[in-house]
Amino acid sequence: MTTSSNCWSCSSATSSAHFCPACGKIQPLPKGADYFAFFGLPQKLTLDLAALEQRFHSLSWKLHPDHFARASEDERQLSLDLSSQLNDAYRTLRDPVARVEYLLSLSGMRKEGQKKQQAPPELLEEVFELNESLDELREARASGGNAAQLAGMRARLESAQHRFESSLAEVDKELAGVSAEWDAALDSAADEAAKKKLMERMNEVLNRRSYIRNLVNGVRQELAGT
Ligand SMILES: [Zn+2]
Repeated sequence: MTTSSNCWSCSSATSSAHFCPACGKIQPLPKGADYFAFFGLPQKLTLDLAALEQRFHSLSWKLHPDHFARASEDERQLSLDLSSQLNDAYRTLRDPVARVEYLLSLSGMRKEGQKKQQAPPELLEEVFELNESLDELREARASGGNAAQLAGMRARLESAQHRFESSLAEVDKELAGVSAEWDAALDSAADEAAKKKLMERMNEVLNRRSYIRNLVNGVRQELAGT
């Protein structure tokens, strides 16, 4: 998003830059500027991470409050605000999952699944088995099960964990796929309906991802307790 704005100090057009091209004074973010705009980027989901990091370090240096020790109170405050927003923007955009979540949240399209606790259909059977294994393990522990029995259960859980981790990797690939479709849609100036459809798909993938990630974390915790 680009908004035209003028320097608060010399009134020159700033073209949404962080510093006025004419007088060099630090500028507030234009209204409605998002994390992508902060980095001067379009709302695309495939990012050059090395370039993003480089831009982050360069901005981080330029906006650093140390440089504004002798500036006005307002400028010093601006540098503090912008530095903190820069950190938030960078943390969000460098993570491909957080990036998609953020994009969806900008249009109010990020909706946690209502049936959040429900397993994706293709995983139903495995989740059922996993829960059985977890129950057995807890019972065995409670009744002071023997070492061999516990080791066997542990092995079963570990292999379940590996399967869910590979499901997670699959979902990440899927997310990357929809993300690429999103970028292509922006490039071809797709209409709002098409973009909304893609966002709904991203939202669905994110919900599935969060379900599987919770499973993986749950098993990991349980294993750490054996
Ligand atoms: Zn200026």
